[in-house]
Amino acid sequence: MDFDLSPKTQDLCRRLSDFMDAHIVPRIRQHHDELKAGIFPVSFMEDLKALAKSEGLWNLFLPHLAEGETGTRLTNLEYAPLAEIMGRVLWASEVFNCSAPDTGNMEVFHMFGTDAQKKQWLKPLLEGRIRSAFAMTEPDVSSSDATNIQTLIQRDGGDYVINGRKWFISNAAHPNCKVMILMGKTDPDNTDRHRQQSMIIVPMDTPGVTVERNITIMSHHAPEGHCEITFRDVRVPGENIISGEGDGFMIAQARLGPGRIHHCMRSIGQSELALDLMVERALERKAFGKYLHQHGAVSESIARSRMEIDQARLLVLKTAQMIDKVGAKGARKEISMIKAVIPIMQTTIADRAMQVFGAMGISPDTPLADIWTWGRALRLADGPDEVHLRAIARLEIKEAQDKPGFTLPYLTAPPRNEE
Ligand SMILES: Cc1cc2nc3c(=O)[nH]c(=O)nc-3n(C[C@H](O)[C@H](O)[C@H](O)COP(=O)(O)OP(=O)(O)OC[C@H]3O[C@@H](n4cnc5c(N)ncnc54)[C@H](O)[C@@H]3O)c2cc1C
Repeated sequence: MDFDLSPKTQDLCRRLSDFMDAHIVPRIRQHHDELKAGIFPVSFMEDLKALAKSEGLWNLFLPHLAEGETGTRLTNLEYAPLAEIMGRVLWASEVFNCSAPDTGNMEVFHMFGTDAQKKQWLKPLLEGRIRSAFAMTEPDVSSSDATNIQTLIQRDGGDYVINGRKWFISNAAHPNCKVMILMGKTDPDNTDRHRQQSMIIVPMDTPGVTVERNITIMSHHAPEGHCEITFRDVRVPGENIISGEGDGFMIAQARLGPGRIHHCMRSIGQSELALDLMVERALERKAFGKYLHQHGAVSESIARSRMEIDQARLLVLKTAQMIDKVGAKGARKEISMIKAVIPIMQTTIADRAMQVFGAMGISPDTPLADIWTWGRALRLADGPDEVHLRAIARLEIKEAQDKPGFTLPYLTAPPRNEE
């Protein structure tokens, strides 16, 4: 495995870091204050987006671009250190048009959209003129098993009519969110449970779409929203189906691979920031006659955090390289591994940093509570830990089943007589 950064990536890392230092980090307080005052989107977001675009720091996540589309054409491995740099500030990725769920939706349009769908939705998304949502999870069924979903997408003449209820739909309260990719069932009776689902494009202003509420996450209000939405006789034209009827599950698998790795890359950045804060606090504060870092418990927290971040980063880089080489399907075990490892690492390190900070650590005066909250949410979003552990174990067991008895030469117990 060679994780050396290419000259192109080194250059982008340097320019992105400079941009963060010059334009984003100095606005952290303003961002916080504007949100607190109810100003959303924050007043400087569009200016920063324009600046990032003009500096070529735009659509960094998308490996493949068509003629005329703006971006950097980086591999997942090249994108990883950049996402980590952006991850240090929770809202920064939007500035570079690299935030979820837009990135995953752009990948879907890119991979499966018709020319007309690309023109209408991919183009403005790539240009950062609109935002989008992805609607799969439902309140009434266990949605980590996507075969359970119940929202119906029924043919009616040349149209489809959608009925159902979704929740935790990120971004749906953003005023620029103009479109949603919805997963529902076009063929609920199909004997193949993975061919019942389809994905369809639903413009947010379609009659019958109602954003019922924006759900807070651990008492944290995200103005862009994690929304509950009802769909009552929502009618969209037949050409809004993506790829074809029955392709929903396949598209979901393709969409989630890169999306999961982007989250994990950003989580590494957030964990690094939590460790930086922990170390700096431990260096400046004294208790019982010693600096905090001179107490064994605190120095152990620092050491464990460093080891865990570096282990996690290596796993993320390996996964990124595998997606580049063998695609998201071939890298599915690694994708599940990072998804099960990194969010819990993020919460663990944020938790240690909060402890080192004392009471201030759980106040809004540091980013630690937000870093912890987002790590905790990620243990559910894009699939709960248990589902990923199950996937890893299944693949591991399958590999062992394919080579039965391969450990026997390692055993020194005398052979048993076969009856
Ligand atoms: C901040 C945030 C943002 C989100 N954004 C979106 C979005 O934009 N669009 C969207 O569609 N959804 C979104 N979600 C929803 C998320 O994808 C789902 O919550 C997740 O897939 C789990 O589904 P569920 O909530 O129905 O949990 P359930 O499926 O009901 O699972 C509940 C629990 O059961 C256990 N469990 C489930 N399966 C297994 C198993 N095989 N083995 C052992 N235990 C198991 C796990 O502990 C799991 O947490 C978001 C969630 C959060 C928290």
